[in-house]
Amino acid sequence: MAKNVIQFGFDAKTANQHEEGTIKAGVATVKVLESWGVKHIFGIPGGSINSLMDALYVERDNIDYVQVRHEEVGALAASMHAKYTGHIGVCFGSAGPGGTHTLQGLYDAREEHVPLLALIGQFGTAGLNWDTFQEMNENPIYADVAIYNRQVSTAEQMPHVIDEAIRQAYAKNGVAVVQIPVDLGWVDIPQDGWYSAAHAYRRYPNPQLNAEDIDAAVELLNQAERPVIFAGIGTRGNGQAVIDLSRKIKAPLANTGISFDNFPSDYEALLGSPNRVSTKPSVECFPEADTVLFVGSNYPFAEVSKVFKNVKKFIQIDIDPSKLGKRHNADVAILGDAGDALRAICEKVDEKESTGWWRANLANVANWREYVTKLEKKTEGDLQLYQIYDAINQVADEDAIFSIDVGDVTQTSIRHLHMNPKQMWRTSSLFATMGIGIPGAISAKLDFPDRQVWNLAGDGGFNMTMQDLATAVQYELPTLHVVFSNQQFGFIKDEQEDTNLGYLGVHFMDIDYAKLAEAMGAVGHTVTEISQVHDVFAQAVQEVREGKVVVIDAKISNERPLPAEMLELEPRLYSAEQIDAFKKRYEAHDLKPLSYFLEQEGLEARIETVEQGGF
Ligand code: FAD
Repeated sequence: MAKNVIQFGFDAKTANQHEEGTIKAGVATVKVLESWGVKHIFGIPGGSINSLMDALYVERDNIDYVQVRHEEVGALAASMHAKYTGHIGVCFGSAGPGGTHTLQGLYDAREEHVPLLALIGQFGTAGLNWDTFQEMNENPIYADVAIYNRQVSTAEQMPHVIDEAIRQAYAKNGVAVVQIPVDLGWVDIPQDGWYSAAHAYRRYPNPQLNAEDIDAAVELLNQAERPVIFAGIGTRGNGQAVIDLSRKIKAPLANTGISFDNFPSDYEALLGSPNRVSTKPSVECFPEADTVLFVGSNYPFAEVSKVFKNVKKFIQIDIDPSKLGKRHNADVAILGDAGDALRAICEKVDEKESTGWWRANLANVANWREYVTKLEKKTEGDLQLYQIYDAINQVADEDAIFSIDVGDVTQTSIRHLHMNPKQMWRTSSLFATMGIGIPGAISAKLDFPDRQVWNLAGDGGFNMTMQDLATAVQYELPTLHVVFSNQQFGFIKDEQEDTNLGYLGVHFMDIDYAKLAEAMGAVGHTVTEISQVHDVFAQAVQEVREGKVVVIDAKISNERPLPAEMLELEPRLYSAEQIDAFKKRYEAHDLKPLSYFLEQEGLEARIETVEQGGF
């Protein structure tokens, strides 16, 4: 008896023989994936998924299997693929731990509303419900994360279930999970007994705008004295329409922490994002504003931070009816595509001359940029994260792709990277999983082989998936990995500073990441001094061009970046000693509060803070 009979209750070698006029259900399934344009599938083989491996072997000229070193990385790479391209990401894991390892990536995709398909191995049908090794009722594990969650029960339905799963994932922007008893993939089904519906898939057209709602929005914007636009990723691709309106009505532009690559970072009225992954001009603007145009955003800190509490009029544009009025009571709600609605409003709204409100915010933005630039351009003292960004900005391509890990780097990258809409910046924005930097870089390089790809990670995040640097080397994916290394979970350490009795669990030992890179066949560099940074980055970029995977271990100092959500700059709220101490700690001697610029324009400042939207 063949070994497989003992392990999975059937003889796989015999099952692999092919009958005339038939196709293996597994091969038909993989052909369905191909019909939907799937180019890569990430995962690790196992006994319970080996019929899929056979089908991928048969179809190896048409679809690329990418072997990762951990199923979590495969699932995160699939999720990031969907974020970079808009196309469904596909991953797999074998029964039990292989499948549960994928959960991290599945939740990442669910939170970000991107289509993802996970194929999960299952014991062969003969062993089902016998509590056989690694056999369990897998379906409930995925019930929460998935919008479609089925176990295949016959070989004939297998390609159909996969087709259904993909259609559902696209239609609902969510995660589809299919569990496959391994023997079914090896069963012959009629050659013409299946089809793919990929060619029939259609998306809903953009909703038609309601002219009355547009007029109502125009009226409120015409009356507004202190308008601000708050633009989320629903405006992606329509950055210029947002800027056109911002300029016409003299409304400074705030964006969410993940929509930075939608706007040129040098737009003079770009405030940045509020809360903690934030910039000072944005945090300060909302308590002073009277009218907010909230477009293409589902800002998750709105309620907890009470960011809109002083706002008198609130206009919202969203393509999803369930989001209208969700984060704040909307005086005017517009159902529609952000670009369509913004252009319609811009056509009708009055053009405003420069206002004091506009000038004060522009001056505040300029003052913040001077502060940020001064830090980046320092030539003396300990190496800080800021000078690393200066080097990145010097050598990053105009259309570079950034995969950003979670932690301090999420915040500092939006403050210091000089982004433009040709670039891409993606992270795990709502699930906020650490370790996404490497999977994101792998995925980006597979999708865009001709573009420069960066992974920016803290050492905490890098530690979580660094084994998969080997995947980048093995598949010859020239990518540049920057490890901001200061032996701490900085983001959490700062939270503990604010809320805890003392620090616990936030420090860890150092690792030589350059050596680690070399052990994996990558090129490793270490920088410890400001004076080394530019040469090392120039060399690293050249090495990547030559086809190498490069890691830069940047041994940075461990100071806290300025907490824009907890500014201590306002003389009417803080003593001179407090302000001095704040400025000294954050090297912010020239930083002024927004109230200063408002008053220079003869405008009253409310001088109210908003709460932090953390835990
Ligand atoms: P989403 O939540 O995805 O909302 C997009 C909205 O656009 C949806 O309502 C959707 O229906 C709509 N939409 C989609 N397409 C269209 C269209 N064509 N037309 C109109 N509407 C459309 N962010 C911050 O701003 N501040 C923070 O302090 C912050 N802290 C963070 C901390 C960490 C560690 C991490 C990882 C992330 C953080 N973020 C922060 C990011 C944050 O978690 C959210 O992901 C982000 O604020 C949500 O952005 P969004 O509203 O643009 O996207």
